[in-house]
Amino acid sequence: MAEVTEAQVLDALRTVKDPDRGNDIVSLGMISGLAIKGGNVGFSIEVDPKRGPALEPLRQAAEKAVDSIRGVTSVTAILTAHRAGPQMPGRGGHDGGHGGHGGHSHGAAPAQGGPQGGGGKAGVPGVRAIVAVASGKGGVGKSTTAANLALALAANGQRVGLLDADIYGPSMPRMMGITGKPNSRDGKTLEPMENYGIKVMSMGFLVAEDTPMIWRGPMVMSAIQQMLRDVAWGELDVLVVDMPPGTGDAQLTMAQNVPLAGAVIVSTPQDIALLDARKGLNMFRRVDVPVLGIVENMSYFCCPNCGHRSDIFSHGGARAEAEKLGVDFLGEVPLDIAIRETSDGGTPIVMARPDSEHAKVYRQIASTVWAKIGAGPRRAGPKIVIE
Ligand code: ADP
Repeated sequence: MAEVTEAQVLDALRTVKDPDRGNDIVSLGMISGLAIKGGNVGFSIEVDPKRGPALEPLRQAAEKAVDSIRGVTSVTAILTAHRAGPQMPGRGGHDGGHGGHGGHSHGAAPAQGGPQGGGGKAGVPGVRAIVAVASGKGGVGKSTTAANLALALAANGQRVGLLDADIYGPSMPRMMGITGKPNSRDGKTLEPMENYGIKVMSMGFLVAEDTPMIWRGPMVMSAIQQMLRDVAWGELDVLVVDMPPGTGDAQLTMAQNVPLAGAVIVSTPQDIALLDARKGLNMFRRVDVPVLGIVENMSYFCCPNCGHRSDIFSHGGARAEAEKLGVDFLGEVPLDIAIRETSDGGTPIVMARPDSEHAKVYRQIASTVWAKIGAGPRRAGPKIVIE
């Protein structure tokens, strides 16, 4: 089958006109994050957030145009909010649909802060590598893994930030034991909150816990882009991103628009069997983000009374499955009440019990991740990560 080329896709998209502005969506510079992998094509269409809901027909027309190219097997077009200035939801900028920032990735200058991978997406100044922690579905321990991975990276000597992009259910304020609201020194950027030596930003700091959050697609990306770019992260070796669960549009847009050095997939043994983790894996592969490996969470059960280990979820499935899928297996973390109690109590186990077996596993996962993102030893000269 003939290879689908970028030129073909752009030609097809030139036939699609923005109804309000008269010109085609390529000439208007609305297309970004174009990713072609075999017959799968993905891209985002950047729009003013006010127009977002009205532009669904445009999105569909763009998908249809690309779908008609010979050799194209699937098309995913996403509407992304256009940058309108630094505004944070919950800080006066959130009025029910105008998140504000879409984070342009096309034509953006290369990362200023050093190598981050991400194929030309605008970097975050000062941040050397951004690593996503993702899962195929909710409840598998993604946030627990993200928090412990961040702490383990810090324990290994890295300067670490933690961005809670799980805007539907932000859990980092609780897990990292942080309350209060972030300040802004200059009125433009927010200072991240900090605990255990980790800089943390979460929608949970900005919106009251009991506020129901209803996010439409473009708003999700706006909020995440702002937490990424309008926060004074300072100099970081690694920014760990706790992704929203699942593999829907929000996740795909995020994977496309954020300069990720790689992704860690968290999975339970039964989730791997049910293919949810594979969806996550395929999503990152499709947008050319390297999958650093799979962490099997709740891998086996440790009896809190006698220490007996039982494999209640057919333990070991993830390792075998990872091998089959051609990704690395990063480690297994047992189902242990101590892990739940410590992370739900605001001091994740890597911090609360650094000498425990579990903390060791997380530190090992952290070393593997650090080695893989090619960032090298701390404060070594920048090294380019090539995807
Ligand atoms: P997700 O982010 O995937 O929704 P969380 O990290 O919030 O999942 O975990 C869901 C619940 O399971 C939390 O209460 C957490 O403390 C608990 N949990 C996660 N991993 C483990 C584990 N290995 N052992 C025991 N409890 C765990």
